[in-house]
Amino acid sequence: MEDIKNGCVESSVTVLGHFINGKLVVKGDPTSDVFDPAVGLVTKKLELARKDTVYDALLSATKAFPEWRDTAPIKRARIMFEFKSLLEKNATKICRLIGEEHGKICHDARGELQRGIENVEYACCAPEILKGEFSKNAAANIDCWSEFHPLGIVAGITPFNFPAMIPLWMYPLAIVCGNCFILKPSERDPSSAMFIAQLLTEAGLPDGVLNVINGDKDTVTLLLEDERIEGVSFVGSTNTAGSIYRKATSFGKRCQALGGAKNHAVIMQDADMNNVVSQLMGAAFGSAGERCMAISVAVVVGDDFANILVSKLKEAIQKLKIGPFDNEENDYGPLITMEHRKKVIKYINSAENEGASVVVDGRIFKNPKGYERGFFLGATLIDNVTRNMDSYKEEIFGPVLQIVRVSRLTDAINLINEHQYGNGVCIFTNDGEAARQFSDCIKVGMVGINVPLPVPISYQSFGGWKRSLFGDLYAYGPDGVRFYTRRKTITQRWHKKNIEYKKQFSMPSSK
Ligand code: NAD
Repeated sequence: MEDIKNGCVESSVTVLGHFINGKLVVKGDPTSDVFDPAVGLVTKKLELARKDTVYDALLSATKAFPEWRDTAPIKRARIMFEFKSLLEKNATKICRLIGEEHGKICHDARGELQRGIENVEYACCAPEILKGEFSKNAAANIDCWSEFHPLGIVAGITPFNFPAMIPLWMYPLAIVCGNCFILKPSERDPSSAMFIAQLLTEAGLPDGVLNVINGDKDTVTLLLEDERIEGVSFVGSTNTAGSIYRKATSFGKRCQALGGAKNHAVIMQDADMNNVVSQLMGAAFGSAGERCMAISVAVVVGDDFANILVSKLKEAIQKLKIGPFDNEENDYGPLITMEHRKKVIKYINSAENEGASVVVDGRIFKNPKGYERGFFLGATLIDNVTRNMDSYKEEIFGPVLQIVRVSRLTDAINLINEHQYGNGVCIFTNDGEAARQFSDCIKVGMVGINVPLPVPISYQSFGGWKRSLFGDLYAYGPDGVRFYTRRKTITQRWHKKNIEYKKQFSMPSSK
């Protein structure tokens, strides 16, 4: 019997629970709906962990921690090598799970997974990254060194838009550093994270070192308020990132909270126009613009150049293929929810009402046959956008590219520096001096020079400036190691026989 709910037909669906102490468990918690966004149907119910479930996960992690903390880093790394191989073997299944709940096209999901695997590869270097720092003869017969100790239990709270990659930014590194980890994935698309956690157990991870609990903001509150959790890694929208950072730190926890973005591409007149168009197309519309590094604003220097760019983009947008994830020919899929689709349309309406020109209107896009209820939205190009418009000030997170026209590079730099977000940015130019001026002066955390999506490699670190990051340390890479460890510095002297040490009341120094 079909049931109409939220404008969608709901049929009988499976219930997803949690992954606690190495096992999948259904606990009888309240549930929320998981959709297939391409068909617009509820396909699963997801349990939202309440107190008992959160406590079970915490108990399991607490029991697992002492032995895991004392396990040799090389043994932890061997599990990561096996995990990497299992991720590769199961790539097709993982990409399907991503596609069914997130909607991103298979080729895009494979890119996401590959980026996640690269974080596992970095975690395989555990013995190297944890070997510490040693200073022999800090003073006569004195050696001094730093060790990096795990924090204990760390929680990760992740967004919907990279359901496999962002959890993999976090727990492989946290775990090889000797921590136990509790992951709370997005309630929109949790299945790939649940499946990947099982692969890590198959790779040899002891039960309890990684637990995955599904849930909503009430689940997150339970995690933030529990004194057994020492650190919190968060990725999601800015307002939530800010409030999680404040709450976690007020409970004495270490916290890094990555938030939203508005990423600009500056186009100089000496840039190669055709390359700019093809790179902007992928960076703006790939994954339906639901990427925290998506280019959502092109700042074009010079009016004549802007006119040509707009007409070329218009032509390219009309050739885009939009549809379900399992057709490799599609360029992007649906938005995550009907509610989010409405929010994106609201921003297009507001830009139009505030005087911008809608050059290509994605609102009139017709869904592919058989997917009439899906949350698709056509690509939209908006010209003559100005800094006071809501659509410019706020993150849209959809397939919308806005054009702002300026006369000089310094105008572009000032515009970007005054924006509330500072996640990613790029410049297209053939002028080395302009590129250097730009990268020196721009107040943004990740900068691309002729690279539209400057997502750092796994052995650098990822993070933004301003309201795109709350906390001091970036995600993954060397900053990730610092975040997931506590430094202990030991100064040691072994007394030589027959040497008498005199009383010393002045501050000891190496002088
Ligand atoms: P979201 O903030 O709605 O949700 C993120 C996570 O927080 C989810 O697990 C969710 O259950 C939880 N959550 C939501 N509201 C909460 C609340 N009030 N209290 C506690 N927990 C809460 O974000 P989303 O819609 O899943 O993801 C999209 C956002 O994430 C965009 O703003 C995007 O820019 C941002 N993002 C940022 C980065 C980055 O690295 N800076 C990367 C990816 C996504």
